[in-house]
Amino acid sequence: MAGSKVTVVISQAQGRNPIKRQLEEDIATALIAEPGIDVSLVPHLYDMSQDHSGMLFLRSVPGNVVVLGWLYERAIRWTLDRANIRGKDGMTLLKSADEESDDDEEEEDTRQYNGIGSVNVPNRRVYCIDLRASVSADAFVREIRRISEENSVQTVDLMSWIGGSPQPEQLQRYLQPERLLEARRAFDSGSATHVDKATLPEDTGRRWYPVIDYSRCTNCMECIDFCLFGVYGVDALDRILVEQQDNCKKGCPACSRVCPENAIIFPQHKQPAIAGAEGEVSGLKIDLTKLFGGDSGESAVEMAIKERDRELILDGREAVGMSVGIKQKVREEMDQLIADLDALEF
Ligand code: SF4
Ligand code: SF4
Repeated sequence: MAGSKVTVVISQAQGRNPIKRQLEEDIATALIAEPGIDVSLVPHLYDMSQDHSGMLFLRSVPGNVVVLGWLYERAIRWTLDRANIRGKDGMTLLKSADEESDDDEEEEDTRQYNGIGSVNVPNRRVYCIDLRASVSADAFVREIRRISEENSVQTVDLMSWIGGSPQPEQLQRYLQPERLLEARRAFDSGSATHVDKATLPEDTGRRWYPVIDYSRCTNCMECIDFCLFGVYGVDALDRILVEQQDNCKKGCPACSRVCPENAIIFPQHKQPAIAGAEGEVSGLKIDLTKLFGGDSGESAVEMAIKERDRELILDGREAVGMSVGIKQKVREEMDQLIADLDALEF
């Protein structure tokens, strides 16, 4: 690893989708031969626990790192941040379809976010790329070469161990990507031996929890007031954090709908705005309430209340409707909306 300019980490898809696996393999195989690039594969980023060896490996990467995954770029960045894998934002030119900026000037991103930002950001770059941005491995390889060249002329303050203290044997599997690819192929085809299985990283079950984008989050604490399942907490600096991620109710994105800064990402949600797509939530001309609301026209707050009540009832608790954790201003807006709708009936 010493002396390399860029480390590329491919975070693999959930399941065994052969098309996704092939793309991951094609990118990894092409990059193994590239000078100045180290490539590794880890399981799906969102599903790895904080002490999974793949996370320990990511934390151990010195210098600039490119992380490719099956998530929106923003979701990758803030999932990494949550695991203390940080750096300055590296700019990537390869964007998924939902994130490509529009050439029409009127549609430009004009919303300014004044979030509290991340903490302890080391002097290196983290580049995040959505693997859904192209079906061609070449497109990714070209972009990674571009990033590698960009970094070959930059002075990077290399940090030997960014965080965590992985054992050499925990890192070994990630430092031998060819062996990992072989073992993965054997596993997917059902012919894996004990040796292959030992080579693969530990299993990762599917998870569901919110990820906070601190470039947007203003620490207003609305999410902690709204969530009645003990997911949120505060750190030693009184910053909001996702403290008990496994308390979150699978499939429910309620708090993302009430966050005034749209700072809460559920990377696996089907609505791009909630899953972390950049473009769709960034223009002032876009009605955010609709993006975070329901398919059949419910407002974001209506949907959030409905979803939270459903989870409370499933837990054997009482529904609370708007009586808990909804700001007075929002309540007044909702009352007005209901009054307007009532008036329309006549
Ligand atoms: S509601 Fe949104 S902006 Fe407010 S603390 Fe939570 S994540 Fe941050
Ligand atoms: S989705 Fe529901 S359970 Fe999960 S953190 Fe948000 S409010 Fe809490």
